[in-house]
Amino acid sequence: MRRHEPTRHPPVPRRLDTVTVQRPRCPFCGGVRLVKYRSIADQGDGSALAWVRCANAECGRRFRLLAE
Ligand SMILES: [Zn+2]
Repeated sequence: MRRHEPTRHPPVPRRLDTVTVQRPRCPFCGGVRLVKYRSIADQGDGSALAWVRCANAECGRRFRLLAE
């Protein structure tokens, strides 16, 4: 009876680099709950632009958000 060969995976690097992406914050109150109401997913160079409103009821300021 033939034994089934275990699936071979490509070697995994021992350590992967970690890239930390900070969540966008409201520049007025520092809140992280933002409501996007308009966006351009890709401006042609891979960056994304969004118009957001701070969800903090005491703030509610609007600003643009650029994700490079
Ligand atoms: Zn705010």
